[in-house]
Amino acid sequence: MPELPEVETIRCDLHPRICGRTITAVRITPDKVPLIDGASPAAFARRLEGRRIEGLNRRGKYLILHLSGGLHLVVHLRMTGALLHRDAPAPADRYVRAVLSLDDGTELRFADLRKLGRLRLVAHPDEVVGRLGPEPLDAAFTAAVLRHAIGRRRAPIKAVLLDQRALAGLGNIYADEALFAAGIHPLRRADTLSEAENRRLHRSIRRVLRDALDNRGASFRDYVDGGGREGRHQFYVKVFRRTGQPCYVCGAEIERTKVGGRSTHFCPRCQPSESLMPSAD
Ligand SMILES: [Zn+2]
Repeated sequence: MPELPEVETIRCDLHPRICGRTITAVRITPDKVPLIDGASPAAFARRLEGRRIEGLNRRGKYLILHLSGGLHLVVHLRMTGALLHRDAPAPADRYVRAVLSLDDGTELRFADLRKLGRLRLVAHPDEVVGRLGPEPLDAAFTAAVLRHAIGRRRAPIKAVLLDQRALAGLGNIYADEALFAAGIHPLRRADTLSEAENRRLHRSIRRVLRDALDNRGASFRDYVDGGGREGRHQFYVKVFRRTGQPCYVCGAEIERTKVGGRSTHFCPRCQPSESLMPSAD
């Protein structure tokens, strides 16, 4: 599932290619599973056609196309969604659910095997992304901001990191990787982290996300960038989906557990369970 580094990689790929272009036609593949939130496919197409793409931003795991006339197209890729920029004569992509034709003869294609991704046109992006937590790669995201976002939560820290209203952009891969890098057990209650642990987690979240961004995201299954290419970060993860393999730091076997129904990977030695006891400070 695309998380912050994957969605940001797509944004960087698409930004120079689609900003300034005008949408000349919209094709939605007929399907029983809805793709558009809040509008019929025909109405959606009518509202998009003729508009210029003035900007492309990311918030959490959402992409936001800013369009002329004060409209915004919010794209959520969910499990297997992909946003591909292709020359119009390029061979059809599999699982394409929508095609936006652009005025330079190229196409922006939304493909989605599992059909969980959604598109929505809004007058203000906050209608969709207004309740998301802070952006972990923003300069304004300090250790104090992280403390404020998660420090009163009684749930396991892994579950809190996955909560997009607490912190935007982390999913299963980078929550596991950040907790490993910080030496914090995924079942630790969020409100028991010491100041030192909070600072370590803050630093780890940012480093793990930046490293993944440098590797153009992780392609464990379906993720591809804006040109249809896989990322490389799957070769560099330390715990995610490494159950039973030796920890690169200490040699112990990586273990797997469930937190809030999600598979969770950790090193029992580097992320000790004695820290599950509430700390004294
Ligand atoms: Zn270890």
